[in-house]
Amino acid sequence: MNLEDLPIRDDLRGMKAYGAPQLDVAVRLNTNENPYPPSERLLDDLALTIRREAAELNRYPDRDAIELREELAAYLGHGLGRERVWAANGSNEVLQQILQAFGGPGRTAMGFEPSYAMHPLITTGTNTTWVRASREADFSLDPAGAVAAIKEHDPDIVFLTSPNNPTGTAVPIETIEAVIEAARGMVVIDEAYFEFARTGTPSALTLLGRHPRLIVTRTMSKAFAMAGTRLGYLAAHPAVIEALLLVRLPYHLSTVTQATARTALRHREDLLKDVQRLREERDATVGWLRGRGLEVADSDANFVMFGRFPDRRKIWQGLLDQGVLIREVGPPEWLRVSIGTKDEMSAFRQAMENVL
Ligand code: PMP
Repeated sequence: MNLEDLPIRDDLRGMKAYGAPQLDVAVRLNTNENPYPPSERLLDDLALTIRREAAELNRYPDRDAIELREELAAYLGHGLGRERVWAANGSNEVLQQILQAFGGPGRTAMGFEPSYAMHPLITTGTNTTWVRASREADFSLDPAGAVAAIKEHDPDIVFLTSPNNPTGTAVPIETIEAVIEAARGMVVIDEAYFEFARTGTPSALTLLGRHPRLIVTRTMSKAFAMAGTRLGYLAAHPAVIEALLLVRLPYHLSTVTQATARTALRHREDLLKDVQRLREERDATVGWLRGRGLEVADSDANFVMFGRFPDRRKIWQGLLDQGVLIREVGPPEWLRVSIGTKDEMSAFRQAMENVL
């Protein structure tokens, strides 16, 4: 039997499952992971913590993840408490819960493309209609254009990714505020890469006090180097958290996940030191690519989008043949490389030299 023979939902027919290739190559720079594995200190702490917590694995976990949310709120600062913070299995699940609560049949969600491909996918997966608006040629967002698009389509949810994936572009706080003020519905600022932004870039968290329909999403997958843990979170008005409680599955965050995330938070000083190294490596990568005469989008994230290649598949394949996996994503003539360790980036540069 094939997939087509099953009585699946009509709107899922013909769709392809999302996913970057998980290939076993030496240098993996394709999914914006953090290249630094957990330290010995973190691993030791984690082993003891899990040993302790596991003694109660016959019981369901804390359904509301009270302590974890308290500690995430403390990390975010801005005077936030646990009543304004929510967590789930990766920010993808957080986004899905937002759509389950505020989207659905007859409703629309809008985003400014090119941007994170999961926003439209989670939107359609929850039977919400996706409305596409555009960024400028340099991938920035024109405030007047964004406001006009919102007024024209009147979406129930607006997604804005800053720093944006796959372009790396940070959106100025004034533009974010103009978008929130123009929107009737919920506004989601996806700050998955916020910690990598160049200094001085304010977070949309600074706007939370004034805007009750604002949701700021974050993840431990990138800056905290915890992609395998699956822990995403958000900050919003307490009423928004109440709305999310209506749609989440009971006990959605396992005891092990909560304990692992709390352990990572205890080690945040060490983990965030690596963020600084990645920022420096990113800026060096931008400089090197520009020095090769390539077009490179300014980046406030842990990846760099560069081009242009009339046949980008050829470049991507040429790198892969040398054991360097990057991502074919974004506008047609561009490629994206995630920032790895010094050695990995030097392998990337060498492979690029050979392929250019
Ligand atoms: N938002 C953006 C913009 C992303 O790029 C990603 C990961 N690629 C996510 C959210 C989801 O991250 P996670 O589910 O690992 O938290």
